[in-house]
Amino acid sequence: MGSSPIIGFSIHLGTVAPTDTGSIPPWVSTGHAIPVLVEPKTSGEPYWSGWALAGDSRATAVASHDGVTVLLAGELYHRAELGSVVGETADGLSDAELLLACWLRYGPSGLRLCNGRFAAVVAENDSVVVATDHAGTIPLYLRTRPDGVDVATEAKVLAEGAGDSFPAPGTEPAPGLTGVRRVQAGTAVTLVPGSTVAEAARTWRPPHHRLIVSPDEAMNRVADVLDKAVRTRLGGPHDPVTAVLSGGIDSSSVVALASGGGRPVRTISLGTDIGDEFAAARVVAEHLGTRHHEFRCSSEELVRQLPWAVAAAEIVDAEVLEYLLPLVVLYRMVPNEGTRIVTGYGADIPLGGMHRTTERLHSLDEVIAFDMGTFDGLNELSPVLGSMAGHWTTHPFWDRDVLDLLTALEPGLKRRDGRDKWVLREAMRELLPTATVTRPKLGIHEGSGTSSAWSQLLRRVGVAESDLASVKTAMAAVFHRRTVREQEPPGEVSFDDVLDEVMSEQNLAVTR
Ligand code: ATP
Ligand code: MG
Repeated sequence: MGSSPIIGFSIHLGTVAPTDTGSIPPWVSTGHAIPVLVEPKTSGEPYWSGWALAGDSRATAVASHDGVTVLLAGELYHRAELGSVVGETADGLSDAELLLACWLRYGPSGLRLCNGRFAAVVAENDSVVVATDHAGTIPLYLRTRPDGVDVATEAKVLAEGAGDSFPAPGTEPAPGLTGVRRVQAGTAVTLVPGSTVAEAARTWRPPHHRLIVSPDEAMNRVADVLDKAVRTRLGGPHDPVTAVLSGGIDSSSVVALASGGGRPVRTISLGTDIGDEFAAARVVAEHLGTRHHEFRCSSEELVRQLPWAVAAAEIVDAEVLEYLLPLVVLYRMVPNEGTRIVTGYGADIPLGGMHRTTERLHSLDEVIAFDMGTFDGLNELSPVLGSMAGHWTTHPFWDRDVLDLLTALEPGLKRRDGRDKWVLREAMRELLPTATVTRPKLGIHEGSGTSSAWSQLLRRVGVAESDLASVKTAMAAVFHRRTVREQEPPGEVSFDDVLDEVMSEQNLAVTR
């Protein structure tokens, strides 16, 4: 794990020599722009030109050796293990260099070894491989052109290009953008720039089988694998880390493991006038001795920042936006840029935590299989949510090893003794107050009052109960059009203007 990863990039790989690296695209992310310009060593190899974005001006974006060039955004989380299979110690190698070493030994199969949060481009001879991590946690987009291919970690950067991409296998259309395609999660797409030659290989799939292990063994395995996922995300034992803490079992587990060994941990919680979980978070912070901060934002102020959430996640799903908005708002309130933020996001998907009222184990397992089969493209873990405020975020529950184990555990270990997420609660029992271990789940959009805040604002201007969902959906589409397709800075997109536009489109009268 490099201390300051490359956050994202925008690269053209083509057959024609570039005159320069182009202008800096209208990034939403903030950071140091590092020009990327790679000349082919032999004929047939593509030229690279574009930009990488880093939290640190000393970061290097590209690693090259023996005719292979690698660009890596993000980080790898099992550096020592990767080092051991490529026969080098990982110390002193950047993550891009480690991936390169892996590629030189294993070829494209090397991508199947990687457990990380990354998006990568690898060029060898005349082919280019564009790859996401197992869960596509750094979204990756491309647009094919007659003279090459444009690849970027934010779709908005590619929005203005002309023409339609050919439907390369392993990609699907990005919502609301003609010609831009998103690389699927856990996928490596091989392309020959300037042609329609392409093939895709899967590097990961969510497990469909279920493991039968004793409750004790399951608890121990969950504790171990999560502990490792947290530790590998935190840098050295004295590096400071910030955790977003709600006081629910997911974020509390992460904070408990992060605090182990005396590491200084800062915890932050967000509340609004409609709701907060401050008391529950304080119990955990006091128990673990973290430096704790509470941030409060008016619910109206929160909802008015929706354009930021849409610009970051580049999605049009209003429900998912309600989950992401409180985090975007909280990240924007954290003052020090360059903060490494760890979250408890995502535990509910493999553990079925959202399905509190699903009684039968069969049904619980079905919804888990469904959710694990449909997460791709929701962009819930996009680094842009944090990097637009200058921070780097990471999510231990979506570590590849954690996800493999949690998904595969049989559902009777997830719902047990009338409790959801049983195995996680039991795994953390020794480290957390009993009140935290037994606390019922409260969704991020519920605890912070986000869903009700958006609805309240709409009700206040006269939107009927039956129109709330469709107005939210239509507003999300307009925010997306303006911040992603038209690349307007989110700060300049007025919530009220968008609401007026949607209301008149739907022939609804605004009463202000
Ligand atoms: P539980 O699912 O049991 O409620 P949780 O609150 O930790 O546990 P979610 O509700 O799924 O998990 O929320 C997702 C993540 O978002 C949390 O793990 C936490 O990191 C972050 N989060 C949610 N609400 C807040 C909040 N009000 N303040 C700070 N962080 C939050
Ligand atoms: Mg919660």
